[in-house]
Amino acid sequence: MFLISTDYFQIKKTKNKGRGVFCKKEIKDKIIIGEYTGEKIKIAEYDLEKDKLGLYLMYLNDTYAIYPDLTKVDIHLINHSCEPNCKIVNSKGHVYFKAIKNIKVGQELTILYLLPPNDGLCNPCTHSCHCGRKKCTGTMHLL
Ligand SMILES: [Zn+2]
Ligand SMILES: [Zn+2]
Repeated sequence: MFLISTDYFQIKKTKNKGRGVFCKKEIKDKIIIGEYTGEKIKIAEYDLEKDKLGLYLMYLNDTYAIYPDLTKVDIHLINHSCEPNCKIVNSKGHVYFKAIKNIKVGQELTILYLLPPNDGLCNPCTHSCHCGRKKCTGTMHLL
C-alpha cells in the first residue's frame, strides 16, 4: 500500500524490467514510501517455486512472509537496483519501503532486493540486473 499520495509517483513501463515506479514530485529523504501488504503466508507451507520469476515474496521473519496481490498497483512494482534510492525497513511485523535520499522528478524508485547468494538453487538463474548503475553487479543476488 502506497503511503505517499499519487501526486508523488506514477507507474510507467521500463525498457527491460516490466513496470516501474517513477517519481512525479520530489520525494524527500527518509519518507516512508509504503507498506508491503498482501497475504501473510507460512514460509514452510509455501511452494517457493511459485515465486521463482516474480520475486514478490517478502520475508517478515523466519516463519512468515508476505505475498502481495499482483493484480493491484502497489509497491511490489518497485524494481531492484544495485544503487537504490529506497530501502526495506522491517519493523514490528510490518515491512516498509523508505527513501534513503532525495528522489528527483523522473527518477525511478528502486530498492535492493536482498536475494540470498545464488548457491545453485536457482538454475538457470533469472535474476540478472539491468539497473545500469556504475556499481551494477549484474545480478540481484547478494554476492
Ligand atoms: Zn537467481
Ligand atoms: Zn544492477
